[in-house]
Amino acid sequence: MLKKVLIANRGEIALRVQRACKKLGIASVVVYSEADKNALYVRHADESYCLGPAPSARSYLDQSALLDVAALAGADAIHPGYGFLSENAGFADKVAQAGLVFIGPSASVMRTMGDKVSAKQAMIDAGVPCVPGSPEALGDDEEKTKALAASIGYPVIIKAAGGGGGRGMRVVNDEASLLQSIAMTKAEAHAAFGNANVYMEKYLLAPRHIEIQVLADTHGNAVWLGERDCSMQRRHQKIIEESPAPGVDSVQLAEVGERCARACERMGYVGAGTFEFLFENGEFYFIEMNTRVQVEHPVTEWITGIDIVEMQLRIASGERLPWTQSQIECKGHAIECRINAEDPRNFRPSPGVVSEWIAPAGPGVRVDSHMYSGYEIPPFYDSLIGKVITFGSTREDAMARMRAALGELVVDGIQTNVPLHLELMQDPAFVEGGTSIHYLEKWLAVRA
Ligand code: ADP
Repeated sequence: MLKKVLIANRGEIALRVQRACKKLGIASVVVYSEADKNALYVRHADESYCLGPAPSARSYLDQSALLDVAALAGADAIHPGYGFLSENAGFADKVAQAGLVFIGPSASVMRTMGDKVSAKQAMIDAGVPCVPGSPEALGDDEEKTKALAASIGYPVIIKAAGGGGGRGMRVVNDEASLLQSIAMTKAEAHAAFGNANVYMEKYLLAPRHIEIQVLADTHGNAVWLGERDCSMQRRHQKIIEESPAPGVDSVQLAEVGERCARACERMGYVGAGTFEFLFENGEFYFIEMNTRVQVEHPVTEWITGIDIVEMQLRIASGERLPWTQSQIECKGHAIECRINAEDPRNFRPSPGVVSEWIAPAGPGVRVDSHMYSGYEIPPFYDSLIGKVITFGSTREDAMARMRAALGELVVDGIQTNVPLHLELMQDPAFVEGGTSIHYLEKWLAVRA
C-alpha cells in the first residue's frame, strides 16, 4: 500500500481524497495557496505546505513547487484530483521521473486520450460507438472536405483535436460557410491549444449526455460501474447528475459499458476514468474520455456501494480489482446537485464570507463540501462550494429527498444556485426525466 500521498488540489476534492487516505491508513500531505490557508482540508491535515500566491499558475499549477513538496515530505504518490494538473501528461511524466506514482493512467494513455482525434481513433479500434465524422484531422484538400461534410450531412461541428472545457468548437449549417469556419477554428485552436488540428463530426441536435464510469487495475482488468446522466448543463458545465439515466435500455447500456471496459484493457488504462457519450434517438456516440476522477463520482458510489477514490488509491498501490463485472450491482437512484457560489439569475460569481453554513443530513443525504460558517470563499478559483447528493430506492424518492435536503441547506452571506436547483427539482420535464443538453439554457431563456 502507498504510504504517503500528496494531494495536488484544493476545495472539496482535496477533502475527499484526504478522507479516502485516512480510511486506508495512508498519510496525506496537502498543499494550499495563500488564499486557501483557512481551508478545511488544511485544518484537517497532519502535514500542509503553502505553494505560493493565490493565482493557480503560481500555486496549484506550479509543477516544480509540487514536486519539491513531494520530495520534502517524502510522499510516494501524487493524487491530482480533477481540474488543475489532473489531465496534464507532461506532469504525469515528471511525477514518474521523480520516482513517484501519479494516481491515474500512464502519461502515454493520457496523451492519446487528450488528443480528441487519437482518442476517437482508439475508440473506433475498440468498437466503442462514435459520432459519424472524419476519421482523422482535416487536411488541405477543400473538395475532399466538402464531400465529407456532404456525406455526413449538415449541420456538422468542427472541433479542435486539442480542445477542452467546451472551447474550440464551431457548428456549420451549410457548405457556404464550411471552409471559412474550418479556417477560423484552426486559427483559434492554434492560439488556444498550440495545436491547429481540427476534425469534423455530425452535429447532433438534441442529445443527452450519458457517461460510463470505469475502474481498471495494473493487472489488465477493467470493470464499468454503471452510467450517469449529466444532461442538465449550462455553457457545457454540468449542474445536475444522476444515475441511472432515466429511460435508457439496460441491455444496450451493458453493451456500451462492456465495450468501454474492454477498451480500457486494450489501451492498458489504469485507474478511474469516464467515457463520455452523447445519446440521441436511442444511439450512443463517444465524444471524449476523462482520465481522472470526476466531480459527479458520488452518484456512482451511492448506487454501487463502491468508494471510487479509495479504489484509485488501491489500484495505484498495485492491488487487483476485488470484483468481476458480474459482482457489480447498481441499486436504487442517486442525484447530485452542484452548489455554486453565484447569482442564481445572472450566474455572476459570488465569493465572500459564508456567515452561516448548515448542511442538510438524514437518511439518503450526502454532502461533499469544504464550507463552514465563517469561511471566506476566495475569488480566484471555480465557484463550486459543494455537492448535495441524495439517494432513494426510486428516482422519485431521490428527488423528494433532494427537495427536502436543499430546503434544509443554509448558506448565508453569499449567493448560491440553490434556488435554481429547487426550481428544477419541481420542473415537470426534469421530473419526467430524459431532457437534452440544451434543456436548461432554453428553460433559462424563457423563465419569468
Ligand atoms: P470538451 O472537451 O471541450 O468538453 P467535448 O467533445 O466533450 O469537448 O464536447 C463538449 C460539448 O459540446 C458536449 O457536451 C456537447 O454539448 C457539445 N458537442 C460536442 N460534440 C458534439 C456533436 N457532435 N454534436 C452535438 N454537440 C456536440
